[in-house]
Amino acid sequence: MPDFRSDTVTQPTPAMRAAMLAAPLGDDVFGDDPSVNGLQEHAAALLGFEAALFAPTGTQTNLIALMGHCQRGDEAIVGQSWHTYRWEGGGMAVLGSIQPQPVENQADGTLALADIAAAIKPDDPHFARTRLVVLENTTGGRVLPTPYVAQVAELARSRQLAMHLDGARLFNAAAANAEANGTDVYDEARALAAHFDSVSLCLSKGLGAPVGSLLLGSRDFIARARRTRKMLGGGMRQAGVLAAAGQHALEHHVRRLADDHALLRQLAEGLAEAGRSHPVLAGRLGVASANTNILFTDLHADVAPAFTDWLARHGVRVTSGLYAGQTRLRWVTHLDVTPQQVAEALDCVQKFKG
Ligand SMILES: *Cc1c(COP(=O)(O)O)cnc(C)c1O
Repeated sequence: MPDFRSDTVTQPTPAMRAAMLAAPLGDDVFGDDPSVNGLQEHAAALLGFEAALFAPTGTQTNLIALMGHCQRGDEAIVGQSWHTYRWEGGGMAVLGSIQPQPVENQADGTLALADIAAAIKPDDPHFARTRLVVLENTTGGRVLPTPYVAQVAELARSRQLAMHLDGARLFNAAAANAEANGTDVYDEARALAAHFDSVSLCLSKGLGAPVGSLLLGSRDFIARARRTRKMLGGGMRQAGVLAAAGQHALEHHVRRLADDHALLRQLAEGLAEAGRSHPVLAGRLGVASANTNILFTDLHADVAPAFTDWLARHGVRVTSGLYAGQTRLRWVTHLDVTPQQVAEALDCVQKFKG
């Protein structure tokens, strides 16, 4: 039965494990792990940056980037729902002494340009110095439109602000754009990243590596990032064993993200059908949104406990939370979810008796 909780639950494939075992290793704190260096060079070239840094988590690459752009007392503009603001334990404030300036997210996940502009503080001793705009792509599975990203970048440049992308799922965004435009996924990823001074991306989400994130930026930015990583406790030694998994993922698990997206559409259609015609769930189960590899469904309060319990008892694992008075379930497709499992999950939904 499928584990839809997150794309972080994937197991390394046999080929990935073989690559990890075969990786030449050194001490990366001394800068001489060939597998880490190889991954960093490969990723920088792949995404059009001068340099890259391998770190344990996306929380850490985001924090390193924020600390690279903002000094103590500076301010970063973020979305209310951004991972950097909401889901990283307040790290930018706690560890970076950076003031977050959250902006309300629009229904499509974007931050309105006017809201960003209004949040930028004038140069006045009363105010923190606004230094940075952070975007997140994908966000809640949604892809930020490329023209929108370009507009935010233009606004940021015109006000001398830096731009950071939390691209934990950058390649999911790129895969969606590649499919929509009939283009190459790596070209789309490079195009998305081009608007930013720094980008962080996760190897441990849809790409299927067990551990690891990358931070991309200029040579100078990454040199400073290396010091911050050490300070935050992210300097790892024979990290090439992990970098090799990341390298394998970048080479072999990017194009297949389109399969996860196709599977999610199938799941969304089946759940939407249950929301229309199932004897108990009709009118009580709604597909709130389904994009790239993430799907949200909202359940009416009178069926929510029984239905979530039914799924759990049958081994269909999802995450659940409360949203606007309803129970919102999150379903994520990934490397370890098969078409067969999606069919089984939909069958399990069909058999729900209330
Ligand atoms: C997962 C995620 C991160 C980083 O998470 P880690 O678990 O620390 O690797 C950052 N941003 C977004 C949007 C994410 O989904």
